Amino acid sequence: MKKKDPKALHIQKGVVSPSSINPNLSKKRWKRKQRSVEEYVKGIKEGNRVVLSQAITLIESQRSSHQELAEQIIEQCLPFAVPSIRIGITGTPGVGKSTFIEAFGQEIVNQGHKLAVLAIDPSSQVNQGSILGDKTRMQELSVHPSVFIRPSPAGDSLGGVARKTRESIALCEAAGYDVILVETVGVGQSEVAVHSMVDFFLLLLLPNSGDELQGIKRGIMEMADLIAINKADGNALNSAKIARKQCANALHLFPPKTSGWIAQSKICSALTKVGIPEIWESIQQYNQQTTQNGYYESHRAAQAEYWLHESIVYQLKERFFKHPHIQEKLHEIEGQVKEGSLSPFKGSELLLKLFFDK
Ligand code: GDP
Repeated sequence: MKKKDPKALHIQKGVVSPSSINPNLSKKRWKRKQRSVEEYVKGIKEGNRVVLSQAITLIESQRSSHQELAEQIIEQCLPFAVPSIRIGITGTPGVGKSTFIEAFGQEIVNQGHKLAVLAIDPSSQVNQGSILGDKTRMQELSVHPSVFIRPSPAGDSLGGVARKTRESIALCEAAGYDVILVETVGVGQSEVAVHSMVDFFLLLLLPNSGDELQGIKRGIMEMADLIAINKADGNALNSAKIARKQCANALHLFPPKTSGWIAQSKICSALTKVGIPEIWESIQQYNQQTTQNGYYESHRAAQAEYWLHESIVYQLKERFFKHPHIQEKLHEIEGQVKEGSLSPFKGSELLLKLFFDK
């Protein structure tokens, strides 16, 4: 007797069967219906985090249709931005930034604020944005209903990454986030970019500061409104106190800030939370002082002007390299410049003429 086939469905010989019931199923892209600008703006204004997230994805997209949409959303959201304090946080990897933000963020939301944590990490295309602003690094904070955390956008240039973060700030403020933290890693130019978009700049250092101040460049120290020596706990407490004193001395040597604020140095422990409320208090004092003396407003105006210029340069560059006539001619000119038959200056002049005349 023939053995019974245990499978319910069996393929009969001679019948051509498809490899799956619906071979097109895997190919089918589950496209989300594209929201209209109005729907995005409405969602953001209502504080809908999903909509906010999707709008930021448009900002980060390389597609020009997405970018156009993002621009319109930003434009319409700008009038609805809540008054905010934007805080930049920097420090070398391992100093405790994410642990600090977890503790500091709790302090902020416990006082009824809405907190957005954004990041600028120009290396994020290499590390897939996992270094900074990663949700898994701030586990408690990331599930808090008043907190929005977004990892660093990927990008091929610091300028591009910074621009996207700045635009994201605008949307977060329209969504009601009144405290914005912008985190960056303290190893390069990214602090300058962060500094150009925040009101207050916080530098985290380790207790063993030493003479070289952990390789932190003088310029970065000079930008700081507050230096916090983190990990001031256990055996490190004493060395943290010494480091704080060293920082205070170093800060003394810098010229006074135009904000009128005298930079401070403090100790804290992100782990035990000692010193964290004091840092938030300092920032509030700063906010009050600079609002009263007019610096807050003039500084934001100067930053807006800076970003206008940045945006002009960025857009000109984009349009230039995407221009069909330039694309057609660029390779040839590059070749001539490389072989020395044309100077780079003359070459650029030819291309610019082509760009502006056509
Ligand atoms: P990041 O790379 O700057 O974001 O640093 P992390 O927040 O990931 O912290 C690096 C390590 O330092 C982790 O093992 C933390 O637990 C530890 N750490 C962070 N803050 C403190 C602190 O205040 N005290 C102590 N003892 N350890 C801390």
